[in-house]
Amino acid sequence: MAPSPLPLKGASTPSFWRSNPHALDEYRSTPNLPSKADIVVIGAGYAGVSTVHHILQLCKEKRLPIPSIAILEARQACSGATGRNGGQLKPDPYNRPATVAASHGIEAAAELAEFEASHVPAIKKLVEDEHIDCDFVLTRCVDVLLTDDIYARMKAGVDLLRKANVSVMKDVYFASGAKAEQLSGVKGAKGCFTYTAGHLYPYKLILHLLSNIVSAGVNLQTHTPVTATVKVPDADGYITVSTPRGNIKASKVIYATNAYTSAILPEFTEKIVPVRGICSHIVPGKTPTPLLPNSYILRAGTVEYEYLIPRLDGSIVVGGARSKYYRDRDSWYSNVEDDKLIEKAKHHFDGYMQRFFHGWEHSGAKTNKIWTGIMGYSTDGLPHVGKVPGRENQFVIAGFTGHGMPQVFLSAKGVASMVMEGTRFADTGMPRVFEASQARLDDEKNVILEGWEASRMAPMEAKL
Ligand SMILES: Cc1cc2nc3c(=O)[nH]c(=O)nc-3n(C[C@H](O)[C@H](O)[C@H](O)COP(=O)(O)OP(=O)(O)OC[C@H]3O[C@@H](n4cnc5c(N)ncnc54)[C@H](O)[C@@H]3O)c2cc1C
Repeated sequence: MAPSPLPLKGASTPSFWRSNPHALDEYRSTPNLPSKADIVVIGAGYAGVSTVHHILQLCKEKRLPIPSIAILEARQACSGATGRNGGQLKPDPYNRPATVAASHGIEAAAELAEFEASHVPAIKKLVEDEHIDCDFVLTRCVDVLLTDDIYARMKAGVDLLRKANVSVMKDVYFASGAKAEQLSGVKGAKGCFTYTAGHLYPYKLILHLLSNIVSAGVNLQTHTPVTATVKVPDADGYITVSTPRGNIKASKVIYATNAYTSAILPEFTEKIVPVRGICSHIVPGKTPTPLLPNSYILRAGTVEYEYLIPRLDGSIVVGGARSKYYRDRDSWYSNVEDDKLIEKAKHHFDGYMQRFFHGWEHSGAKTNKIWTGIMGYSTDGLPHVGKVPGRENQFVIAGFTGHGMPQVFLSAKGVASMVMEGTRFADTGMPRVFEASQARLDDEKNVILEGWEASRMAPMEAKL
């Protein structure tokens, strides 16, 4: 497989979140690139912006001098996955942790589950402390299981973690049969779990943080793709970062490039793969519609699931639609075409609320917007965070596998501490399974394609 291409140059499918671009959307702090910077951050999504936010916080708290920082973004600010996602801040208490328990042991699983859960209060505090207007809502996520098979799988994971006393399981509530249908309001639910989660307007959150960062003197350069970086610093310790607008000499480089990481770090080829997803914004035709106080995940299988948030303006954001296109591997795997919809899925969300939710049959709900976005899927299912193996003073925070909202913000805090204070990964509080390492780069397994192969052997139940 070839490395990922860079982000596409032309216009992407317009997402609901990016309907009203912020003043910094295409901003350049200076007409030309600075020739040198203490830190170059590549990518202005959730990961890049959060990392700079934490660097500045650290400088403030520890009275450190503020380094010169340049953020280089290939397209507009927050135009990647973060500006095109489902807006769901949904920590995963048991699904991925159960997989990690099997591969890395129960302690590693507990660490992951607790780290994700801690994102909800951390983001709530950030939003409240900084008065960020980003539609943040604290809620519960209802994980609805639509088939006997997925019900049994999820229940087994939950039981395993409960037995091991993993602390986040205290927050997980379970209902089955008729109670599950009543609690979730979803037709045909066989079981459901609920737990604390949030949802928000990701573009507004990130652009707020970016505004603060730019006001503090950080140099933002949009429409500036990085085409190469050198592996070994020069005699003066500088890493040359190349762009079509000229080069920057950086003392440290942070790759917050998610799906596109291997375009400039070729060692991540087949380790972080661009995976295309599709998402929609649905508006009710008639109001009032039944209240949806929770956010949702609807599962029919391990790779067949949908995520949904009810916004407080009465509209819904829902993404997924895999049952329509997943078999056609080229339509999503190693695919960066966020300028096009996924043809086979583009009508999936029409009538969605009417099909799945009790009481919505006569709502007249219809698709208002539909868009695609590119996720950075890691071939071992876990993000790569920390020092880039074999590259001095280069750091990576990428590969969030379609699930970055409850993982990125505090990973960025850890990376900020590694970059500024030389903190060892093990002392940052990040889950051990996130650490970037040569062993992970050498590992040839590809859980993305294993999941795809398995779904070909056992055809999806046409529930979604
Ligand atoms: C359709 C969809 C729905 C999703 N829904 C959810 C959800 O509901 N909940 C959840 O937790 N997660 C969800 N995700 C995943 C989530 O959005 C990501 O995990 C998260 O936003 C990752 O943030 P990031 O900053 O790492 O990546 P991005 O937001 O993609 O940012 C990376 C940035 O780097 C830039 N870049 C890349 N290469 C270069 C280069 N060489 N030079 C300069 N710039 C470069 C890109 O242009 C991009 O702006 C979804 C993703 C998609 C696509």
